[in-house]
Amino acid sequence: MSDILHVPEIFGSDVFNESVMKERLPEDAYLVWKECVTTGSQLPLDIANHIAEAMKCWAIEKGATHFTHWFQPMTGITAEKHDSFISPAGDGKVIMEFSGKELVRGEPDASSFPSGGLRATFEARGYTAWDPTSSAFIRDGSLYIPTCFFSHTGESLDKKTPLLRSMEEVSREALRILRLFGDTETRRVITCVGAEQEYFLLPKALYAQREDLRLTGRTLFGAQPPKGQELDDHYFGAIRTRVSAFMRDMDEQLWRLGVLSKTKHNESAPCQHEMAPIYTDANTACDANQLTMAVMKKCAAKHNLVCLLHEKPFAGINGSGKHNNWSLATDTGKNLFSPGKTPGQNARFLVFLAAFIAGVDEYQDMLRCTVAYAGNDHRLGANEAPPAIVSVFVGDELTAIIRSIIDGTNYEAPEKSMLRIGVDVLPAIPKDTTDRNRTSPLAFTGNKFELRTLGSSQSIAEPNIALNTIMAEELSRFADILEKADDFDTALHDLVCKTFTEHQRILFGGNGYSDEWKEEAARRGLSNMPSTAVCLPSMVSDKNIDLMVRHGIYTETEYRARYAIHQEAYNKVMGIEARTMVDMAMHQILPAALRYTRDLCDTVSAKKAWGAPCTAESDLIAKMSAQTETLYAGIEALKTVLSQLPAGSHAASMYYHDAVIPCMNTLREAADALEEMTDKSYWPYPTYSDLLYY
Ligand code: ADP
Ligand code: MG
Repeated sequence: MSDILHVPEIFGSDVFNESVMKERLPEDAYLVWKECVTTGSQLPLDIANHIAEAMKCWAIEKGATHFTHWFQPMTGITAEKHDSFISPAGDGKVIMEFSGKELVRGEPDASSFPSGGLRATFEARGYTAWDPTSSAFIRDGSLYIPTCFFSHTGESLDKKTPLLRSMEEVSREALRILRLFGDTETRRVITCVGAEQEYFLLPKALYAQREDLRLTGRTLFGAQPPKGQELDDHYFGAIRTRVSAFMRDMDEQLWRLGVLSKTKHNESAPCQHEMAPIYTDANTACDANQLTMAVMKKCAAKHNLVCLLHEKPFAGINGSGKHNNWSLATDTGKNLFSPGKTPGQNARFLVFLAAFIAGVDEYQDMLRCTVAYAGNDHRLGANEAPPAIVSVFVGDELTAIIRSIIDGTNYEAPEKSMLRIGVDVLPAIPKDTTDRNRTSPLAFTGNKFELRTLGSSQSIAEPNIALNTIMAEELSRFADILEKADDFDTALHDLVCKTFTEHQRILFGGNGYSDEWKEEAARRGLSNMPSTAVCLPSMVSDKNIDLMVRHGIYTETEYRARYAIHQEAYNKVMGIEARTMVDMAMHQILPAALRYTRDLCDTVSAKKAWGAPCTAESDLIAKMSAQTETLYAGIEALKTVLSQLPAGSHAASMYYHDAVIPCMNTLREAADALEEMTDKSYWPYPTYSDLLYY
């Protein structure tokens, strides 16, 4: 790495982006591609051939030898299978080939990806299809082609396809509304997303010594260190040299890949950091976030670090999440969540705001399910992250405006002159909505909504699919009413007023961490589902299936498959964690405790021969022995409970939640108590102090 980074030169240098296409494609091919991307129509094969040829030449010049269809199966991470460009030339030599057909369609041997029952093993083939709206790029000598992944019967097997469908859907419905406001120039409404990514960095050598970190990504044992994050001395603090070298390297790689990495800083917990990109369209943001997570892991390894993306690597220390900033903009660059200056703009803003609020209220359970993962269960509702109750924070001024619309009174802006009324019915809105509430799961921050419930390791696809689809649903209902109205202004006012009135219960500006809010939310009838096991079944309620199917995001079969995979994933993670605990407790912790106790006993015998006092040793022996009994009982109890796992995915989830987790907690308590009493040199793995204050 050279010392001076010429960022504008390297930015996007490994991406086959629009400017490269413009430069390298015959003009008509470029224009056809551009039209296909804008209108969503199919690319003719002869054009695909041109693009494939240009891509190949460009990739080979950049040193690539292989290409891969890159896809996002329902595991939530990405998958790839690399083919080289070589083709025999007949004389013992090869030429480099890549056809339009290879670009457009692939058939990875993908029988081991979860399909939620969508594919019988006898027809295990999966196909990939190029997504021409997302740029190809080069990593490690391979040309990566972003693709959708589907079964031989055409069912989607990935996270990208439904995301693209939901973006189309919200665009279509939003356009109907825009047309009603006299907008004839917008051709497309774009979902904009910026995903802030939190992560931990640990020294590789320490990580390698802990089986729990290696197998599960989090510590399953560990007594609290003498120092936690009470001094707040890490948050936004100076960045360690080693970490800053990592960050610089990571930024360079991300920039080369065209990822708009913008902000980096230390987070609240020791060893915790954050990276925020500049927002893009949701599809690009989703690809970019997957790339970011992959680059973080790889880059950390190069710096002898390990990047932990787990939601809760350490008990008692803040976990990691992702903030998903979401908004809608026109292809002409207008943000539809920007309160405007003119009455017309404000009326439009209030329509989109009302639709959003109604959608979140009606589909709060669905939104909750999109962030329900075993790892995230440690965060949501645990007084460090947003609560498991979904609510919307809009700030004081917007709240006052909504109130005045509901009550039919004039809105008086604090310290500003009274504002009167838009299209004669709606008020002008001052643009001061700085976010003063960090405890809200879903906050309006000026011109976008920030969904803060996502786990750090998850794909951002599902929450955005849900946001887009509920928005499409409400906008479509609004458009149905408004398109029929004789008096547009009155109908608009009535609609906005009715919507705010009916859905005001979802608005909350207080402390989301407090117990009072839990009680208040229950009074308001909001759902509070604090765990994955409990909340997941609501994913497939009739209402939610109906929404997804009606908007063509998923077929019922596709949607149910997601549910099955989601639940299976939870069960698998829980099983691995529980078995890892048994393994570590039995083979590492128990032997360490026994060794130390035996040495204490030897010491006592030796001291007794000398007539020396040994109260301390005797006391420790008694305590160690008692705690060892508890540990052993804990191991046996966990083993027994694991052996009685019920059949059926939902039953198993509930069983993990109700029966297995309490046993895991008991076992951990016993082990952590032993750790506190044991001579450090006996302890089998690095402690919290070692890991967090290296
Ligand atoms: P914060 O106060 O949370 O740091 P920022 O304004 O810096 O807020 O933005 C945080 C994230 O939100 C960034 O990824 C940024 O690009 C993204 N963002 C900003 N404006 C929008 C928007 N209109 N739509 C979607 N994301 C946005
Ligand atoms: Mg933020």
